[in-house]
Amino acid sequence: MIVFDGVEKRFGDNVVLSELSFTVAPGEHVCLIGPSGSGKTTILRLLMTLEKCDGGTISVAGQSLSHMTHNGRRVPADEKHVRDVRKRIGMVFQQFNLFPNMTVRGNLIEAPTRVLGMSKDEANARATELLDLVGLGDRIDSHPTQLSGGQQQRVAIARALAMRPDVLLLDEVTSALDPELVAGVLKLLRDIGSSTDITFLCVTHEMGFARDFSDRVMMFDGGRVIEDAAPEKLFTAPEHERTQAFLHAVV
Ligand code: ATP
Repeated sequence: MIVFDGVEKRFGDNVVLSELSFTVAPGEHVCLIGPSGSGKTTILRLLMTLEKCDGGTISVAGQSLSHMTHNGRRVPADEKHVRDVRKRIGMVFQQFNLFPNMTVRGNLIEAPTRVLGMSKDEANARATELLDLVGLGDRIDSHPTQLSGGQQQRVAIARALAMRPDVLLLDEVTSALDPELVAGVLKLLRDIGSSTDITFLCVTHEMGFARDFSDRVMMFDGGRVIEDAAPEKLFTAPEHERTQAFLHAVV
């Protein structure tokens, strides 16, 4: 489903990702853990095409997001092609990033109607269904500022699901929440994870969540995957010294 092949990403002289290769299978739940600045968010931003890679290839469901082969030559993927691949991918951010000037309903129907061409009636029906799923059926006409952080994050999750994504990227989605709101959002994600076949790639500092949500955990350091294992293995018997030190510091 997701393939990174020899990906390199630089910001000026700062090589953030170097020769990075990994795959995520359809329906797989993969968590990315590792120290601050190790390049985890950059991976999600590359998949969202919010950044461009400087080398290597990124593809989703067999479609390249970075380059295409044209007459045997490697050329940048064209914009329409990239937009089509991008439609399959949803992302939930640490800071919710809801449209502040729109109601909850507006947030949920904007992209399905504008990007997918869904009718307003269908988008509204889907918005109602998703808000019930995230426990906010009664807040459809509220504005984001009238909601708690936990409620805003639930709306952001519903908004991502409204696009019927094949892939959902989660970037530290509970980091900005008050501690008592974290468990509810994580439970919602677990419920969605177990009831859909969406492929998840999650950057998280919640080791308990990484442990019980993921099929695989990838430990990053310095823009490289230094350990890639099932959670039961990585959290109980990490092989790499750096993983051991990291887990010792955060758990
Ligand atoms: P954290 O856990 O703190 O969010 P991270 O592992 O997600 O960290 P990234 O946010 O991917 O790390 O950042 C990796 C490196 O890239 C850091 O050194 C960061 O300063 C740098 N970086 C990220 N975005 C930019 C940018 N737009 N311009 C310049 N440097 C950037």
